[in-house]
Amino acid sequence: MRKTILSTILALLTFTILQAQKPTTPSSSEIFESIQKLNFLGSVLYIAAHPDDENTRLISYMANHEKARTAYLSITRGDGGQNLIGPEIGELLGVIRTQELLAARRIDGGEQLFTRANDFGYSKNPEETLAIWNKEAVLSDVVLAIRKFKPDIIINRFDHRTPGTTHGHHTGSAMLSFEAFDLAGDKSAFPSLLKQADPWQPKRLFFNTNSWFYRSQEDFDKADKSNMLSFDIGTYYPLKGMSNNEIASLASSQHLCQGFGRLSQRGSQKEYIEFLKGDAITNKEAIFDGIDTSWNRIKGGTAIGTVLHAVENNFNFKDPSVHIPQLLEAYKLLQSIQDEHWKTQKTEELKSIIEMCAGLYLEASAETPTSTLNQNVKINIEALNRSSQNIVLESIVQNDGKTISKNLELKNNDPEKFETEYYISTEEKYTSPYWLNKKGSLGMYEVENKAFIGLPETPRNVVVNFNLKINNTPITISKDVVYRYSKPDKGELYRPFEIIPEASAKIVEHVIIFSNDKERDVTIAVKAGRDNLEGFVEVCHPKDWNVYPEKQKISIAHKGEEQTLTFTIIPPKNQSEGYISPIVHVNDKDYTKELIEINYEHIPFQTVLLPSESKVVRLDIKKSGENIAYIAGAGDVVPESLQQIGYNVLTIKPEEISTETLSRFDAVVVGIRAYNTVENLDFKQQLLFDFVADGGNMIVQYNTSRGLKADNIAPYALKLSSDRVTDENAEVRFLNPNHPLLNYPNKITQKDFEGWTQERGLYFPNSWHDKFTPVLSMNDKNETSKDGSLLVAKYGKGYYIYTGLSFFREFPAGVSGAYRLFANMLSIGKEDLKLESKLNN
Ligand SMILES: [Zn+2]
Repeated sequence: MRKTILSTILALLTFTILQAQKPTTPSSSEIFESIQKLNFLGSVLYIAAHPDDENTRLISYMANHEKARTAYLSITRGDGGQNLIGPEIGELLGVIRTQELLAARRIDGGEQLFTRANDFGYSKNPEETLAIWNKEAVLSDVVLAIRKFKPDIIINRFDHRTPGTTHGHHTGSAMLSFEAFDLAGDKSAFPSLLKQADPWQPKRLFFNTNSWFYRSQEDFDKADKSNMLSFDIGTYYPLKGMSNNEIASLASSQHLCQGFGRLSQRGSQKEYIEFLKGDAITNKEAIFDGIDTSWNRIKGGTAIGTVLHAVENNFNFKDPSVHIPQLLEAYKLLQSIQDEHWKTQKTEELKSIIEMCAGLYLEASAETPTSTLNQNVKINIEALNRSSQNIVLESIVQNDGKTISKNLELKNNDPEKFETEYYISTEEKYTSPYWLNKKGSLGMYEVENKAFIGLPETPRNVVVNFNLKINNTPITISKDVVYRYSKPDKGELYRPFEIIPEASAKIVEHVIIFSNDKERDVTIAVKAGRDNLEGFVEVCHPKDWNVYPEKQKISIAHKGEEQTLTFTIIPPKNQSEGYISPIVHVNDKDYTKELIEINYEHIPFQTVLLPSESKVVRLDIKKSGENIAYIAGAGDVVPESLQQIGYNVLTIKPEEISTETLSRFDAVVVGIRAYNTVENLDFKQQLLFDFVADGGNMIVQYNTSRGLKADNIAPYALKLSSDRVTDENAEVRFLNPNHPLLNYPNKITQKDFEGWTQERGLYFPNSWHDKFTPVLSMNDKNETSKDGSLLVAKYGKGYYIYTGLSFFREFPAGVSGAYRLFANMLSIGKEDLKLESKLNN
């Protein structure tokens, strides 16, 4: 069993391409290219920080032109960004971006690796980044990746010498790579990793430079390039019918959640890499200069090379299966090679080529997409040989321990189909991303199984191994069990087969705000992973909170169905916060997780299990005013959050803005980046300013300084900058402690700036008309104070407020101080209105 898990991991490292996708049906030109790659024994590792940092032009060039085994090591999974295609953020966004990277690699021919570092959000310098990441742990992961992948060449996307010029994660990734380059080959460094891989010294380290790093194209054109290599990454591949840069565009267009869908490019284009360290280059045309990339590089390899070069040189495009005898000869020679790294790597490649040449179709598909533990699942096996070679299916060995002898000759184009049962034992693990199984820290994932570190996804353990004899040579080909189905409007579809708990529960709202001490109902949805689920649910809660009823029964007839239950939450009298979490008891087992499904067309279906919990916040908050118009920008949950604390919020479109419409509201709030993303809002500015002059309040949240679609975002001059405060714990100074924004109706104190998440704010204005009053001052370490985070100006009878504070992040995290301050912003100038002493009382 252990061995099969290990070989699954190896197979995953090498052929992530085949994971849980529709089976690929390679053409003979694709087989030929695989043989070309088989005959190239060199490798390149590209290193950067995030999904989308990677230069797909260069990765594709290394994989398809140089024929090198190429991988992208992304230090993080990109959890910290924004999602343009759906509601997933945080770790769930990291799951999507992991899959988008794998999708990109399926196109550009690379492999994908990661470290345990978490993308915790924007960081100004590598010093901060490496402090939050646990530098030693991430460095160890980079060293491990190098020792396992054994690259000849490493290419950094970013410059390790210029901290502060880009995201700290970027410079950090290059600094780690620069350091790991020397440590990977030093057996005294990270000795605990030696159990997993031997030391490995890469030959050369480069930096993938371009004009961006030189201020301008002009400066870059003039730069001394004697230390650089260049490549024409627009080279055309007739076997693919595509240029390298066209492939690269298709690959980077997989980053859909980041809005990277783009037009393809063609034609000659230069890409540069700057030599940093390692063996000097004498031939500037060759990145692998002085490195033996032929079969001669391994002991006993020359004979294998002779056989395989003959296949490559005389390749039969009409019938690749004629090469199977030679490929088997090479396969047998390869098995006696001492070098475990090359033996494993090339055996996997060769097996796959033999499989492709024979037109073999081997599939194990379950009759159901999911199963719980301790269940038998029906599996349909299909085995088909589409060549005249002699292939015998000796037996099927399943990872559940079952062996089925067959001894069936697979006759040319005569499919063998049969059924088997696969037992999902009680010891089996649920399907979920391995890095999310345990709660990590701000900067790091916690990975229990050390063998998984670096892998893009959790290796699947429901596997069927086909023991074949091909022309009498025993070869085992393993297949993950999949689920195959069809939809009338979509055709044939594949999904990974998954193991799920028999019960999971979710609380519909992830943050529940109580703006007074009145009880509130929450809805808990329990989902059955199997038929006839019976049990009961209770809700854990903080000591000073109460929940009733104590427990409720569940009874669900069908797998996949949900039952919703209503519990009443009673908050304490005073400000307080904590977490509530449902527990589903079924027989003698407790289930505490929520099952999240991620379903997009460009990536395989994903299930994620996360602890089921919701934050409950009892706010001590007062407010004036009631009706708010919201103008949505790039998307945020500010309207829902304001509704939670009792405001009536109506989202209006720019075309709906009129004096008449506005007269119904106490305030207008403009969503994040509205002036960057919303067309025609500019035309309505005067109406909005008139609304303020007439006594309304207008609050504008952050916009980026570049790409503003409006000339005047404020009634008085205001200049946006890229000033930001990324330390969420940065000290906040009150410039004007008596200002109404800090006193009415809620008295704001330092406590209100505790527990903020990710950052204080971004794109603060750095100059403003003297009609504006700055209220707060803050800054990151070693920087001058930034006073533009919250600016307020009286305009006519009302108030205009511009704020770069990150309310859009703090509200969904249930940060009470952010709610109290925002209530003051909405209430300013309304002191004369009758103040509700407590909301809804
Ligand atoms: Zn990046």
